[in-house]
Amino acid sequence: METIQAQIADLKIGSGSPIVVQTMCNTHTSDVEASVSQCIRLAKAGAQMIRLTVPSMAQVESLREIKARLLEEGIDVPLVADVHFSAEIALAAAQIVEKVRINPGNFHKDHEKAQEMFAELVKVCKTNSTAVRIGLNHGSLGERITNLYGNTPLAMKEAVMEWLDMCIENDFYNVVVSLKASNTIVMVEAYRLLAKAMQEKGVVFPLHLGVTEAGNGDAGRIKSAVGISALLAEGIGNTIRVSLTEDPENEIPVAQYLADRYDHKLHSTLVSLNIEGRNAVATYCSPSKERLLLDFACDFGKRLLDRELDNVELRGSFVGEEGKEVSLDGTEFAAYLTDELLQAARRRFYRPEYIACPGCGRTMYNLESTFNEVKRRTAHLKGMVIAVMGCIVNGPGEMADADWGYVGEGNGKVSIYKGKTPLLRHVPETEAIDRLLEMIEKEKVE
Ligand code: SF4
Repeated sequence: METIQAQIADLKIGSGSPIVVQTMCNTHTSDVEASVSQCIRLAKAGAQMIRLTVPSMAQVESLREIKARLLEEGIDVPLVADVHFSAEIALAAAQIVEKVRINPGNFHKDHEKAQEMFAELVKVCKTNSTAVRIGLNHGSLGERITNLYGNTPLAMKEAVMEWLDMCIENDFYNVVVSLKASNTIVMVEAYRLLAKAMQEKGVVFPLHLGVTEAGNGDAGRIKSAVGISALLAEGIGNTIRVSLTEDPENEIPVAQYLADRYDHKLHSTLVSLNIEGRNAVATYCSPSKERLLLDFACDFGKRLLDRELDNVELRGSFVGEEGKEVSLDGTEFAAYLTDELLQAARRRFYRPEYIACPGCGRTMYNLESTFNEVKRRTAHLKGMVIAVMGCIVNGPGEMADADWGYVGEGNGKVSIYKGKTPLLRHVPETEAIDRLLEMIEKEKVE
């Protein structure tokens, strides 16, 4: 899809330029040492743009220091300030780094006031040649929009179009847009609607793709690959982030694979495909488990999402550890990957659906190990949607349609949510998973 180009320092985002791979630090931005060394590792691993959270004005100063330290180290990868709620922080950060990620609708409850603040930010960005990402997530739509359109992909599209209209009115085009969701169907539909609406308007801004709160491990990789590849295959998307609840370095090879596949026509390792009706038998010969998993997700995710297929049987082989060929035919592993793929495409739920944020500088506990423990202890709750979120500021809003939520408050305390309602607050971390399970069991009895 033809888009205008955004310019982030020397990096171009938009049609005519390769897909840009980006990620986000999970360090505390106030910990300058840790943030600088993580940025260096991420840049060396291939991140072309790195985001850092800026939760307070104090951390704007840390951001300034991080930028300066990276330049001293010869690392000129563009930085993105992730700002929620505060126009004041966005204005300050826009004078330091190359790009600011905001949801202007969150600047103020009064829409007109939010518009004024956004117009102010646009002025500062123009003066400083700073780009903006307008990032709206499924879970964080404002009441004004959800009252009109529900909590739907259409609402996401409508909400962001209002801000894009403002950009056009203010003659500001250094803009990238994202409409992320944890639900792959919602995410794909939202971006498709937005792409169509922008084309009809005749001004197509570049798109940043991502599946939010995708989780970790195989499931997180498959879910991200399904959502992102479905759009890249249609020519929608100019920059990507694969969000994993892991070390952000692990995100880069997955994102790089996706960029290579759709930019450089990297071939799938699928060697044969038989389709009868809406069922497929796919045979692979893959050089690794990681490659198999991503090829499988990209080859079939979109067809499952779009209901062209109902099921895929996985056969063939991959090269396992120690270089040994591992057969897939009739194995539990092949059945597991198929289950994961069907769940990622929301066609069949064989286990709970997990929503877990990747963590960032707002996270105040060990998110990855807690998430793994929650998964271990809730594995029997098939079909339930369980969220594990790093912070109380954005977690509750971002966990969208979760049935239950484990939300870190900071200071070793956790809130337990049922849907959008906090049932327990200030639960010590050491007891929080027990309390979550007790609440779920109690609910089942009632
Ligand atoms: S929900 Fe997670 S990723 Fe989002 S701001 Fe909070 S800690 Fe960071």
